[in-house]
Amino acid sequence: MSIFARKSKRAYLDYAAAAPIRPEVREVFLRALDIFANPGTIHADGIEAKNLLESSRNRVADTLSVRGKEVIFTSGATESNNIAVFGSVLAWIEANPGKKPHIIASRIEHPSVLEICKHLEQKDIAELTYLDVLSEGTIDVKKIREALRPETVIVSIIYASNEIGVIQPVREISKEIRHYKKHVLGNHEFKYPLLHTDASQTPLYEDINLQTLHVDLMTLSSEKIYGPHGVGMLFVRSGTKLEKIIMGGSQEFNLRPGTENLPGIVGFAKALELAVKEREEECVRLREIQDYCFSELEKNFSGKFIVNGSREYRLPNNVNITFLGFDSELLVIELDAKGIAVSERSACNTEDEESYVIASLRKNDTGSVRISFGRGTSKNEIDRLVTSLKEIFSKYENLLKK
Ligand code: PMP
Repeated sequence: MSIFARKSKRAYLDYAAAAPIRPEVREVFLRALDIFANPGTIHADGIEAKNLLESSRNRVADTLSVRGKEVIFTSGATESNNIAVFGSVLAWIEANPGKKPHIIASRIEHPSVLEICKHLEQKDIAELTYLDVLSEGTIDVKKIREALRPETVIVSIIYASNEIGVIQPVREISKEIRHYKKHVLGNHEFKYPLLHTDASQTPLYEDINLQTLHVDLMTLSSEKIYGPHGVGMLFVRSGTKLEKIIMGGSQEFNLRPGTENLPGIVGFAKALELAVKEREEECVRLREIQDYCFSELEKNFSGKFIVNGSREYRLPNNVNITFLGFDSELLVIELDAKGIAVSERSACNTEDEESYVIASLRKNDTGSVRISFGRGTSKNEIDRLVTSLKEIFSKYENLLKK
């Protein structure tokens, strides 16, 4: 059987890990492959490439209601997060010799934020406050207020969790920081503490317009929004000081050296435009599928599973559950054998025994399964998932009886 025939029979329920490139994006991506010249050169071919790069930047800027020079293209969210956290700390140290910077981050940040935090802490470069989440997976904004200090350089809060899909109150957090600047530091125009949000999982489902989302730095990734892999961006609000963390040329306003991934950037700009345009409609459709999924699970497996994270503050494409007494890795493998792709935990965290995100919700982490939906998901796939789960559970019950 050809790989295409085999694929069409599969139910892909892992959109939070990566989404397929959509046809409109593929079209512009393929066209841009022919614009091969280096945008940094001054001949006519290079200028053509540079023009395409800058028009893509302007399209992204328009979509987010920001200025072109506030958009830095990167190789993805990991790099954007590194530049945001590491870059801002380095710039602060440069301006404040002899002082130690302080960082606030939630315990459920993506590893591309948490690992930098741990690194800076272990090397005694920065002091860290890791914020616990409530049992529903949300951050208590009061805890941010309590943690802020004059040396706080950056507060980094993931907009929506890649594992449990829980949405954080980023607007309230921003208000809290502005209040702190005005009433404690005495100047609301003070640049620090910066607010960074990793919004990689949100453009399809949450408002990311930066006129109203008052963050200084925002990370996006293309592959989560039906764009090409290996490309992303960091929004850097004008006036925010960052040091570059990779040395090389002066591309991307001297912040991110290296020849730009032009086809990837063109595809990402298109994917982002479509994500924002179709957001409300797709949210309604997926919310219905999500409700259907939860109610079918409840109907068929009542008392046998727990929902991880809030039902209310949750992306419409995420269902993360723990089946009590059933090994989640085994479940993922069994579902895969039945042609259904789901995840046990984030694809970026395959080395760890258990998920630190689930462990932060409750003491006894008993594994979890992430089911994430997208444009290709229908209720039929949910029916297929439920039928497969029933088959798997009865297979193991029968095995145990023998
Ligand atoms: N942040 C979040 C919230 C993510 O979901 C991911 C991808 N799992 C990343 C960062 C890393 O993205 P990338 O692979 O584009 O570096």
